[in-house]
Amino acid sequence: MMTMSDLTITLSDGSTRTLPEGATGADLAADIGPGLAKAAIIVNVDGDGRDLDRLLPDGATVAIVTADSDEGLHTLRHSTAHVLAQAVLQLWPGATYAIGPPIEHGFYYDFELPGGGTFSQDDLEAIEARMRLIVDADQAFERFEAGADDALALFADHRFKREIIEQVTSGDADTELAGEAAADGTVTYYRNGDGFIDLCTGPHVPTTGRLGYFALQKVAGAYWRGDERQPMLQRIYGTAWADKKALKGHLHRLAEAEKRDHRRLAAELDLVSWPEALGPGLAVWHPKGALVRKLIEDYSRARHEAGGYDFVYSPHIAKSVLWETSGHLDFYADGMYPPMEVDGATYYPKPMNCPFHVAIFQSGQRSYRDLPRRFFELGAVYRYELSGAIHGLLRSRGFTQDDSHIFCTPDQVPGELASLLDFTLSVLRAFGFEDFQAKLSTRPFEKSVGEDALWNMAIDGLRSALESAGLDYVVDEGGGAFYGPKIDVDVTDAIGRPWQLSTIQLDFNLPERFKLEYVGADGGRHRPMMIHRALMGSIERFFGVLIEHYAGAFPLWLAPEQVRVLPVADEHQAYAESVRDRLVAAQFRATVDPADEPLGKRVRAGKVAKVPHVLVVGGDDAANGTVGDNARGAEAPERDLPLDEFLERLSAGVEAKL
Ligand SMILES: [Zn+2]
Ligand SMILES: [Zn+2]
Repeated sequence: MMTMSDLTITLSDGSTRTLPEGATGADLAADIGPGLAKAAIIVNVDGDGRDLDRLLPDGATVAIVTADSDEGLHTLRHSTAHVLAQAVLQLWPGATYAIGPPIEHGFYYDFELPGGGTFSQDDLEAIEARMRLIVDADQAFERFEAGADDALALFADHRFKREIIEQVTSGDADTELAGEAAADGTVTYYRNGDGFIDLCTGPHVPTTGRLGYFALQKVAGAYWRGDERQPMLQRIYGTAWADKKALKGHLHRLAEAEKRDHRRLAAELDLVSWPEALGPGLAVWHPKGALVRKLIEDYSRARHEAGGYDFVYSPHIAKSVLWETSGHLDFYADGMYPPMEVDGATYYPKPMNCPFHVAIFQSGQRSYRDLPRRFFELGAVYRYELSGAIHGLLRSRGFTQDDSHIFCTPDQVPGELASLLDFTLSVLRAFGFEDFQAKLSTRPFEKSVGEDALWNMAIDGLRSALESAGLDYVVDEGGGAFYGPKIDVDVTDAIGRPWQLSTIQLDFNLPERFKLEYVGADGGRHRPMMIHRALMGSIERFFGVLIEHYAGAFPLWLAPEQVRVLPVADEHQAYAESVRDRLVAAQFRATVDPADEPLGKRVRAGKVAKVPHVLVVGGDDAANGTVGDNARGAEAPERDLPLDEFLERLSAGVEAKL
């Protein structure tokens, strides 16, 4: 029977439940069913996460949050971060702690050790063991609220926590810090088990026993509040999951990714390096890497030539007036390198190629009969990236875009977009990518330029291009740039990771800013439409993605060394060289590794170098015109293979790409 003091709770499916006054989130979960009571991590009350033991307000809409949701996982990871801090403070008396938020796949926590100490990788094992003791003890996370003075006294020995409390209670904390400690003007903190306390707004799992599928991963230095004038702290990263299988799966993916790390493979395969003397994010290409790059570029050029593009070139620097007209100095200044003064003028290194292609368009009178014009350039650009954001070839400070700008009439836009997308996918497929995911970004809700009709026409054009290409896509409503909508295309690599590569971007801004015109069929002057298109994104990034996709084992047509011929002994050297010469004459990249080292060692070296075919030739081969082929990935060598047949197979293997 319903009494005055009962609570009415609406569940997310719209149904209602009546609970006695004083009921908590845990009570609600138990009321729904024992399975949910066990799986519940927190409850979501009118959009806010809350601990299970907090009282439910009457009339609220409540969802039970379990570990199979993002919110549940977030809570697990966040709670595990507390246990990490608890373990470190137990093991290092005098250590102090800063902040420890959940992040994608896990969490971190920042510490300052007494005397400026640092953690070692071995320390992580000891910390993890201590964390497991805390988990086994199944300690409750208890929530408290306090005034500023009490909170400062509680955290008297912890200067970073005091700084947070002072900022939060004085009301000038940024939202991130406020999330650490404040709820409705009071300081909140949590206490568990042995008296460990941490500032936090929560929520958390009910007890530490709910945690356990975690691993500590690495230590890194991190400035307090990301500010290099502040103390350098020791950051411990960890990962945490809802169950053992998910944790194992994640660790396996990480190990796979580690094996494929293009920075490591670039060194092992002698492809690219980043000499310190050049500065962060600036690579040099060694002969083998440069050879693969040339093959990528040659292929790209051939496709563009066949695709109706005109090749153009532009300089690496230009006067400030160009960047003022283009607007880059307004909306892109942070990404630009600082200017240099030359002959009384100010020059900037280019962050983009677009204004140069605009200048080419503007160099003469254009008629509608000349359109569309498609300019293509492998254009080197320089962009200032924060040093912390730099990541090998994937994110660097100097790189070469495979950049196109298409100028056309409004009528031509839908057709251009459809053929651009087809062209893009066809080129990506040639490099072995099969799975694509696209994103359509539409007009921003705030500021944008361009008439409604243009936006609608462009978005419709992009949408129908996606649909006729049969691509899976998501719509990012309002996610476009202020100057036009776009499509981004991600490829999925061999271990399921998405990489954003291609962009097709409409631009209603630059044609206006540069006052571009063409003479229409009516004899009047009209503004052309402009489309930016980077297909691989940049050659550097594309190469980095290819290395990781193939784990350095490039397909035959891209392998810098396609065949390595190993004579069994010195007396087979002449035959090995004749095999190599036949291969080279047939346009293959082949070398001989003479018998200075034992054969087994040379075969292994060929495999480590990921050479597609390591041929072994001995006396019988020399007599019969055959080779023994150790094909990459094959279980066993294939012996007594006639050289002619091997050559035919190679040719077929290279052609298979196209
Ligand atoms: Zn917390
Ligand atoms: Zn552009």
